[in-house]
Amino acid sequence: MNSPRTEIPSRAPSALAVDDIVLPFEVSSLDLRGRIVRLGPVVDEILEKHAYPAPVAKLLGEAVVLTVMLGSALKIEGRFIMQTQTDGPVRMLVVDFTAPGKVRACARYDEGRVAEAIASGRTASGDLLGEGHLAMTIDQGPEMSRYQGLVALAGGTLEDAAHEYFFRSEQIPTRVRLAVGEELRQARGGASHRWRAGGIMLQFLPKSPERARMPDLDPGDAPEGVAPHVVPEDDAWVEGQALVSTVEDLELIDPGLSSERLVYRLFHEPGVRVFEPGGVRAECSCSREAVEAMLKSFSQEDRDHMVEDGRISVTCEFCSANYQFAPAEIGAKSA
Ligand SMILES: [Zn+2]
Repeated sequence: MNSPRTEIPSRAPSALAVDDIVLPFEVSSLDLRGRIVRLGPVVDEILEKHAYPAPVAKLLGEAVVLTVMLGSALKIEGRFIMQTQTDGPVRMLVVDFTAPGKVRACARYDEGRVAEAIASGRTASGDLLGEGHLAMTIDQGPEMSRYQGLVALAGGTLEDAAHEYFFRSEQIPTRVRLAVGEELRQARGGASHRWRAGGIMLQFLPKSPERARMPDLDPGDAPEGVAPHVVPEDDAWVEGQALVSTVEDLELIDPGLSSERLVYRLFHEPGVRVFEPGGVRAECSCSREAVEAMLKSFSQEDRDHMVEDGRISVTCEFCSANYQFAPAEIGAKSA
């Protein structure tokens, strides 16, 4: 899930800021690869539709960027689903990416606890998530087995979880930065705001694998006085991390700064090549047919219980689309 689509041709940088794209790039002199995600209308549409409290929206926006970043790197047809399950005020985040660029997302949270978190100013990602896990699932259809990667969330951010995942599961040195913000604009009748989100992922992929060695995991129960086994990091990766650590959140979401300018700003010294960007759009995959099939899969008793005021109403949690059925349509009793 790490390498950009290298079969696509590179192209000359564009100065235009383009939203809702994923831009893969390569810094071959340092054996670095990465991708930039810039989301404007896509993330605004997803977050506005839900009207979650701002800190919940911001957290979900981060999850959207991370999911698009990882999902777009997979050379597969099918879906990539990222889901958190934690004990904090935000119990669950679900982001569902369908190749090549369709995304939808929703959150479940405890209103009272989120209000408390806002009142006490404890709205950092780690505070809202709490402890639990993050699962990443690749679903290539009923014929294929599902692949699931799990990583613990222990009060940290989604960036921390991504680092942990690549460290333990893929063993690829990786840095991820995520940013979400509201762009405020003067409009007639008062100020308006739009959500924007962006992120960058940088990975160290040297041709000789021993250069990608990472420090050993904390030995934990090692006897006191035993020095941990320390492997010095490769100079190229040290430089890559230093460069990516200079990115400001504002740069990741600045509507006036194109992804290519940003990549160039960061990596012009070692030299950088960008590849053809991929587009992203906000689109739900729900349909009346799918909801009907789902309802028909329930037991007779469950279907009968769903009838309210003479009809069955189902609202999609991702896009809020509402589907209504007469009881007879799905074989339920209309009583
Ligand atoms: Zn939907």
